[in-house]
Order: sequence, then structure tokens, then C-alpha cells
Amino acid sequence: MTVTLDKNVEAFVSTPHQLFINGQWTDAASGKTFETPDPATGETLARVAEGDAEDINRAVRAARSAFDDGPWSKMTPSERGRIIWRIGDLIAEHNDELAQLESLDNGKPFAVAKVADVPLSADMFWYMAGWATKIEGNTLSISVPYMPGANWHSYTLREPVGVVGQIIPWNFPLLMAAWKMAPALAAGCTVVLKPAEQTPLSALRLAELMAEAGVPDGVVNVVPGFAEPGAALAAHPHVDKVAFTGSTEVGKLIVHAAAGNLKKVSLELGGKSPNIVFADADDSAVAGAANAIFFNHGQCCVAGSRLFVEQDRFDEVVHGVADIAKSIKVGPGLDPGTEMGPLVSQEQYERVTGYLEHGKSEGATALAGGGTHGDRGYFVQPTVLTNTHGNMKVVREEIFGPVVVAQPFSDLDEIAAQANDTPYGLGAGIWTKDISKAHALAKKLRAGSIYVNCYNVFDAALPFGGYKESGWGREMGHEVLHNYTEVKAVTTLL
Ligand code: NAP
Ligand code: MG
Repeated sequence: MTVTLDKNVEAFVSTPHQLFINGQWTDAASGKTFETPDPATGETLARVAEGDAEDINRAVRAARSAFDDGPWSKMTPSERGRIIWRIGDLIAEHNDELAQLESLDNGKPFAVAKVADVPLSADMFWYMAGWATKIEGNTLSISVPYMPGANWHSYTLREPVGVVGQIIPWNFPLLMAAWKMAPALAAGCTVVLKPAEQTPLSALRLAELMAEAGVPDGVVNVVPGFAEPGAALAAHPHVDKVAFTGSTEVGKLIVHAAAGNLKKVSLELGGKSPNIVFADADDSAVAGAANAIFFNHGQCCVAGSRLFVEQDRFDEVVHGVADIAKSIKVGPGLDPGTEMGPLVSQEQYERVTGYLEHGKSEGATALAGGGTHGDRGYFVQPTVLTNTHGNMKVVREEIFGPVVVAQPFSDLDEIAAQANDTPYGLGAGIWTKDISKAHALAKKLRAGSIYVNCYNVFDAALPFGGYKESGWGREMGHEVLHNYTEVKAVTTLL
């Protein structure tokens, strides 16, 4: 049984899609197209124009002229803010349609996309709409010691950084587009967005809704394709800033590519986040630890993929998480009973099952799962691995699938060091009834998001991003506006 498809969704997936450049739908310069598969079946879902470097040139020209001469930079912040707000409204009006599209293209349960991905995307635009009118500089009292007696008037202007290239992954396709585009637009930037090859559909639908909301031509351009358009965007001499979410490996390539014109760079990369359960934790920690890893099939950069449980309760908590893992209903995203869908792609399926095999070969035990599910599509069982130690590949590397590695701890002084023993620093969870202990540990953890007695909490007002190899800069909150603005100091001798 599946959810009945919205008429708009049926029409959308059966229509071949073009690139969105300068407010027009256009074929790729090469004329090439590619298929986006349905991860629940492996069969073709839709066909999309395949952008390359030449299409990025066209899109950057459009974004450049919309920024340099066009209406976006000349509009008042209030006008911009109202358009951004309308984008949020249109996303909310099309909630179920967008959730179905996301479920089809990415594999995630419709029921989850409907209450999480789509409402969070709408809220991101609403939140950022308010910031459009609140970006401000300061007046400064300066001293200039080598000009005694002079009178000065100094102030700062916070200005849009310019044309922004944005490259996003496939795990939250619509939400990642929202996290990227909403603040860039609020700051007054223009955008070229490169969605992931696995999940281009919701970004294309969003481009249509943005045009309907009144975003002028050229302000937002969407160029799906493979790595080539992403690389071309990161290297482009007329792009002022690149914002990337994806793997740490590609993040490092972006930094190199950006060096040509020293464009500004922000990066939201991988993680191997610790989730620490103390013996005095509430029983809700068990379901919390399961949600920390299994939400979005573990395809979450901040997933609580290393579970540390204080020795006295290790067996109880880990068996509790394993029982939940065994009870999760795995199936197609559009089946109303589905709690976990397929992984996004064949590549990701092979990657995750490769890690499972490697973990077992190094001596890990699967208390739950450990294998694949069904005989078609990219389904992997929710998995809990024990008998793991700090040097194993499954403990050190980001798996990006529904696989948690569990380890006991007994030394309270050592747990921060153990948790921090990773090149990443994106998130961490702490479960305890002793709130002083939680805050003391929160200070010691080198990660951008700390969740106490909760996990995977996202909000447009909460800054999100990583320490160490998890990235540069923050998304969301007002922190993100630093990514999309330059500061100009103006000084006048009176
Ligand atoms: P990825 O290669 O880093 O892809 C992310 C985005 O970058 C996609 O749009 C991708 O295009 C694009 N891209 C790829 N190569 C590029 C290049 N040289 N220059 C510019 N852009 C480029 O991630 P993936 O291959 O989809 O997944 C691999 C691993 O990355 C996962 O297993 C996971 O560990 C990690 N990951 C992390 C996040 C996160 O939220 N931090 C999200 C997704 C994946 P294509 O779609 O054509 O590849
Ligand atoms: Mg890739």
C-alpha cells in the first residue's frame, strides 16, 4: 500500500526537467540529460537536464547581472523580506506535494518529510525574511593616535557578499536548499545552486515556487548535474562565495578550487558524533539514542553514530536500542507504515554494507541488523554494533547509514577525551539527570551542536556547523549572515 500521489507530483515526475537559469527553463548546453532513480525500486523516477561547466558560466552570468545591475540589489530590504516570506508560505501551501517528491527522490518516509523536512524549510524562509530588514552596521568612536585633535565619523556597512555558489547533498534535499538560499537572499546575494545528482527534483520545484513568490529572474539559478558543475562553481572567477554541504573529502577540494580568486568559503561537512548516556539518565535515553542514529536512516551529518554508555547501564541501554532497531519498519517511503526507507543510492548502499562487512571482519558483533533488507531497492537494516574499539574503521569513519557503534565507559574524566577523539566535531549528545554534569561536559566537547537529553533538534534560530574537519562557518541563526555579508568600514575626517 502506498500514499496516493498528489496530481502535481505525478505530473512533475513524468515531465523531463530542464535547468533553471535567468528565470527560464533551458536545456543543458551539451543537450545531455540524466536519470534520477527511485531508491525504493532502483527504477527511473525522472529525467533531468545535466548541467556542466558551460551551464555554470551561463548561470553565473545571470546571477552576476542580477546582483550588479538587477532588481535584487536595488530592492528595499522590506521588499526582499516580503518575497522571502512568500517563499515560506508557498512551501507550506505545497507541504504534502513537496514531501511526496522528497520521499520519491530521496527514499525517506513521506510521513517524516511532511512533518520535518518541509515545515523546517518553510520556517527557514520565514525566519530569514525577518533578517532582511535587520542587517546593520555600527557607528564607531575611533582614536587614531597619530592624528591628535582630529574629529572623525566612522561607521560600518554590512553588505551582501555578491554572487554565491551553493552546492548541496542528497540527505535533506529541500531543507539543504532552504538552509543555503534563505540567508543568501536575506543578505541580498544572488545564487547559483547545484543540487546533488541523486536528488535534484525538490530544488527544481522550489525554483518554480520562488519565481511564483516574485523572486526576479537571475536571482536564483538551479543547475543539476554531477561533480563537474559543482567543481566549476567552486572555481568560478566571478563567484564571490561558495557554500558547500557534503563530504569532508569534497570539502577539501572546494577549498582548493576556491583559491583561484580567494572566494569566501563556508563548509558543512561530515561527522562521527558521540552520544553519551550516563547511568543516571532517564529511560527516554534509550529511544533518544535510537533516534539519534536512525533518524533519516543515519544519513544525517550530525547522526549520533558513536554511542557511549556508562558501564552500569551499558547492557540495558544497548539492548534497548537494539530492540528498537529490530522493531523499525523498513520499507518504501510512500508506504504509510514505513518508519525507515531505503538509502539514497546504489553507491550509498554499497558503501554502508561495505562498512558492515568490514566491522564484522574486525570482530564487531551485530546486536541488531548487520545486513540488507528485501530483494530490491537500497534497503539496509538498522544496525547496532558492539565489541567495537576506538581503532576500528567503523568507529573512526563516517558511515552515513543506520549503523551505530556502542562502547561502554567508566571513567567520567576520560569520556570527553574519548568523545573528542575524532577528526570531526559536528555534534554530541549528553543524557543525564544531573544538569551540572551536562553543562560541564558540554563545555569540554569540541563540537558545534550539543544536545542535552535530546538529539537531532534543528531550528532556524539555532546555529549549526562544525569544529575541526566538520567545517567552516555556521548555518542558520543570525550567525549564518556572516557567511553572506562583507563589512565595510567608512571613515570621514570632519
Ligand atoms: P559529496 O560527493 O561530498 O557530494 C556533495 C555535493 O558536492 C553534491 O552536490 C556533489 O555532486 C557535489 N560534488 C561532488 N564532487 C564535487 C567537486 N569536486 N566539486 C564540487 N562539488 C562536488 O557527497 P556524496 O558522494 O554524495 O556522499 C559521500 C559521503 O559524503 C557520504 O557517505 C557521507 O559520508 C558524506 N555526506 C555528508 C553530508 C553532510 O551533510 N555533511 C551529506 C551527504 C554526504 P554529485 O551529486 O554529482 O556527487
Ligand atoms: Mg559524490
